[in-house]
Amino acid sequence: MKIAVLLLALAASGIAAAQYPTRPINLIVPFAAGGPTDVVARTIGLSMGKSLGVTIVVENKLGAGGTIAANYVAKAAPDGYTIFIHHNGMATATGLYRKLPYDPMKDFEYIGQVADVPMTLLARKDFPANNLQELIKYTKANEDKINLANAGLGAVSHLCGMLFQRALGQKWTTVPFSGTGPAMTALLGGQVDILCDQTTQTIPHIKSEKVRFYGVTTKQRIQALPDAPTLDEQGLKDFEVLVWHGIYAPKGTPPEALNRVNAALRAALKDPLTVAKLKELGAEIVPESKQSPEGLRTWLQAEIDKWVPVIRAAGTFAD
Ligand code: ASP
Repeated sequence: MKIAVLLLALAASGIAAAQYPTRPINLIVPFAAGGPTDVVARTIGLSMGKSLGVTIVVENKLGAGGTIAANYVAKAAPDGYTIFIHHNGMATATGLYRKLPYDPMKDFEYIGQVADVPMTLLARKDFPANNLQELIKYTKANEDKINLANAGLGAVSHLCGMLFQRALGQKWTTVPFSGTGPAMTALLGGQVDILCDQTTQTIPHIKSEKVRFYGVTTKQRIQALPDAPTLDEQGLKDFEVLVWHGIYAPKGTPPEALNRVNAALRAALKDPLTVAKLKELGAEIVPESKQSPEGLRTWLQAEIDKWVPVIRAAGTFAD
């Protein structure tokens, strides 16, 4: 009798695994469409959808530096049809907000990491500084007039801007947007002065010289912009911000669904078209060990441990 029950259960889970997914999967993006996180999401989503045999529908849920989307996913039905991509904000929001309505280490399933993306420091095209040293000089003399665009508290553009102001010993006015897609539109329109943003959005604008560009935020120069100096080599010693991405699902999502989405993620990260597109935009596919649930979970915990004390020491909080 017991064996019969076991066989039935096995057959049922086999059927569920064979059937999933039967309809489109929503991939929640915590920032505006057209921005750098959205570009990564749509690029891998297209490829993952092909291997899963269903469309991955990208849904942009905006606000509060990505925390509105994270909270939405934490409370979404754990049925395999809602998945979530987020970056460093999954860790840094823990320090930036006094009280988050979700717990990044308890309310999610971890699927895997995707790619690492450098950031670039930009200004509007007519900003009166040709290089980093001129920018430092000009902003020092005009500190009360400078404004910095970002995607809200919890966004990497916020983190990068905060670290940059701290390195310069300056304090500027910040202008938050629902993502750096709209922030870039404001920069191109000359409505804001400075923006730190991922290469997955900025490279085309840097190449077409529509913005002023002062350097990359990695310790080493990057392949996609080989002539671009790092901020570190220009005197901002140890300045480093690297954006990482993880894919999550609501806690309790069935293991069959998690495994299939993970397999689709791994396949996407080997798909030559996806890899070429991401590379061209400065993104580096993470090694296979990080493409796993455990690789993402341990990384997230390490990032929380690393950033929360830094952020608390800087005294930047939101309620
Ligand atoms: N670059 C953004 C950030 O600062 C988000 C985005 O729009 O992708 O976090």
